[in-house]
Amino acid sequence: MPNQYTVLPLRERLLSGGTRNGKCLLWNGRRNQDGYGMLDYRGKSERVHVLSYTTFVGPVPEGLQVHHSCNIRHCYEPSHLSVGTNQQNMAYRNACGRQARGERHARVKLTEEQVLEIREKAKAIGNARKGKQRDVPSLRSLTREYGVSWRTIHRIVDGTGWTHI
Ligand SMILES: [Zn+2]
Repeated sequence: MPNQYTVLPLRERLLSGGTRNGKCLLWNGRRNQDGYGMLDYRGKSERVHVLSYTTFVGPVPEGLQVHHSCNIRHCYEPSHLSVGTNQQNMAYRNACGRQARGERHARVKLTEEQVLEIREKAKAIGNARKGKQRDVPSLRSLTREYGVSWRTIHRIVDGTGWTHI
């Protein structure tokens, strides 16, 4: 008597074998040591995301690989899969890494505390200047101190930026 797997077509096995997690479709079955979902198909152990691509999207051109846009290896949501060269895959992953790091460093560069600190220091610098004090650091020195652009400092000090603080 055939087991269910020989009865169910691949499409059905894929559709019934996963769990939705956000926009991802995560394979419930076995995973290989690299974290890819695996499925036995026609006597071979196949990677689920590749089967998903060939089943729901189209054939994988020779020499190309199926990549995840979500970077979750056991996800096989067809819209998260695309084909490309290995190099493209690496470039994409590096770009993702860079982007994530870039956001932490560039956009969320200053904490609220630091913004308040900068305002205080700028005020102190301004007062010291008015008092004709010598050896007063320039406002520009704050760019080095906090590792941000002059524009950022300027926007904080003149109140056009970071107004929520
Ligand atoms: Zn996904």
